[in-house]
Amino acid sequence: MKIVLLGAPGAGKGTHAQYLSDKYEIPHISTGDIFRANLKNGTPLGLKAKAYMDRGELVPDELTVDLVLDRLTQDDCKKGYILDGFPRNLLQAEALTKALAEKGESIDHAIHFEIDEATILKRMSGRRVCPVCGASYNINGLPPKKEGICDRCGNELIQREDDKPETVLKRLEVYEKHTAPIVKYYHSLHEEDRVDSSRPLGEVREALDAILKGDADGCHSEN
Ligand code: AMP
Repeated sequence: MKIVLLGAPGAGKGTHAQYLSDKYEIPHISTGDIFRANLKNGTPLGLKAKAYMDRGELVPDELTVDLVLDRLTQDDCKKGYILDGFPRNLLQAEALTKALAEKGESIDHAIHFEIDEATILKRMSGRRVCPVCGASYNINGLPPKKEGICDRCGNELIQREDDKPETVLKRLEVYEKHTAPIVKYYHSLHEEDRVDSSRPLGEVREALDAILKGDADGCHSEN
């Protein structure tokens, strides 16, 4: 099952991608996480991406598209994957459609996480992430069991540099200009899959389960 998660930064895509990844045993591929891992390891890609990320701008397509298309050829993607944060503009969306079409494949679901700006701002100010394993929490609704500590790996949680208020506003502006138009692109190709992601976590999960029910062929599901 190949899934694209669409929606503004802070809409909860990462949290729910992790849920779906665990449930269907398909990888959660987050371009933001890939760039952050490169940055942490001091790779040339990470260093190039940093300037854009710090400003809340998109990393150029020439650094992004091949990176993702290459990732999708890896063995763990055979049963499918969940794309979170890619595509981020029309060029990336078209490049993905074309690369898949060349193999006779296509995206099965493009799910739009709908949310209002006030809720996004509140969520992003409360978001804390684990710099080691990438797990994401929120002090306003999804806190770790022990304050400031990752449930999964026990490391100290941090606030992402680009979750600081000025950068958040820039990221929302970039989302509206470059990413929001691809919602229409996907919905012109696929059934309109949308969830109200301002709802509590459990309700969003139920909505996702309802969308994906019956589509999990070839994927392991415990439910
Ligand atoms: P995210 O973790 O998805 O919010 O991404 C964090 C930052 O990484 C974004 O603000 C961009 O600077 C960069 N980024 C992530 N995904 C992409 C993408 N598909 N295209 C360009 N830049 C990206």
